[in-house]
Amino acid sequence: MDTPASEKLRSVNHLFERQWMVLTERVHVAVGYGVSTFSFVIGDTGVVAVDSGSTPAESSEAIADLRAHTNLPILGLVYTHGHPDHTGGATAFVEENPDVEIWGHASFGDEAQRFSRNGATIAGTRGKRQAGFLLPPEKRINNGIAPVRYPKTGALAAGPSGGPDPKTLPSKTFAKQTTISLGGVNLVVTPNPGETKDQILTWFPDDRVAFGGDNMYRSWPNLYAIRGTQYRDVRDWCEAVDRIRELKADHLVLGHTTPFSGAGEVDQAIDTYSRAMWHIYNETIAGMNAGKTPDEMAHEITLPSELADNPILGEYYGNISWSVRSIFNGILGWFDGNPSHMNPLHPAERAAQIADLAGGADVLLSRAEAALSDGQTQWAAELCDMCIALEHRADEAKLLKANALDELGYNLITATGRNYLHTCAQELRAEVTAT
Ligand SMILES: [Zn+2]
Repeated sequence: MDTPASEKLRSVNHLFERQWMVLTERVHVAVGYGVSTFSFVIGDTGVVAVDSGSTPAESSEAIADLRAHTNLPILGLVYTHGHPDHTGGATAFVEENPDVEIWGHASFGDEAQRFSRNGATIAGTRGKRQAGFLLPPEKRINNGIAPVRYPKTGALAAGPSGGPDPKTLPSKTFAKQTTISLGGVNLVVTPNPGETKDQILTWFPDDRVAFGGDNMYRSWPNLYAIRGTQYRDVRDWCEAVDRIRELKADHLVLGHTTPFSGAGEVDQAIDTYSRAMWHIYNETIAGMNAGKTPDEMAHEITLPSELADNPILGEYYGNISWSVRSIFNGILGWFDGNPSHMNPLHPAERAAQIADLAGGADVLLSRAEAALSDGQTQWAAELCDMCIALEHRADEAKLLKANALDELGYNLITATGRNYLHTCAQELRAEVTAT
């Protein structure tokens, strides 16, 4: 369905169309080979890759394209972090050279390990909702920072709880700044926790190229992943962005979308990103200290006008209101501070009280229908929730809620949220059909 939000989201498709970018003679970047961006640094006697792409098949195509530029062996592979969209193509590198040295942060893969240690299998379900893997193509535009893909197997398909192929785990790890020297390539790698705790900053000083991983891309950062994630410490992340800036790079390659090039453009992009992130962080802390709740601040805190329309801050992948909630929750935990919310009613009990107030549960459902046609879509979904909690005409309420979720999705710019909404709408319809 065409809405202004859909149009805006579609407008970033060119940022991840497949292209081979020769950034400098020695640094080649593969954009749009899979869902992440990855790079090859060519030395005198060998090549070092930064990230592996997301699937072996697509990464093999990138390696084949590299061969148009050099026949030197790939001696090293450095992971910017442990997410499967950056490690899932590594098998192609191991097949190319079984002795490839694989480098990563000492806490590589900690997010996936935390899910599996706690038995949080829901992470896989929610990951697929966020990624849109279960949606038909017509319900997907892109993933905000990545093209649409439907991986059937491998780490990417398994979602955030899936680890990489054991053969592709880092054989070399580091917990403090280290220089990797392979084939005449010297890369300085520095732990740079942000999007994940195992995030690193990679620096190729010879050509002044920085590889920032997922701490930056051409979208509002995913300070909270709607699939569910441990707290991504936002203060650390702001500092991580500032650390990239200190390098004064001529090129900044990101884990998704296209690189920034030219010292002026790089510095301006980082300055914009840093100011915006610190603003949201500082406003949230100020709101917390003034006793505001996440529900209030999620609606009230926005970017200042000079930053709000900057294209690299568009909420294509991350979302500012989720970020605000996450900062609050990361620092103060689930309790919003209002004592009425210390031990709130069970949703079914609250729904019963509201139905009583309204004059019966039928009123809730007819109001939900009216709200949906009046454009009060969120309220429509919430009223449907009450009917579902009361098990009152639940199938009708589920179908109506599914329509409301689709409507919310079509009007949201953030691809991850859209995917989640549309997938849940699909699940509700399937539930009703199954009964
Ligand atoms: Zn990524």
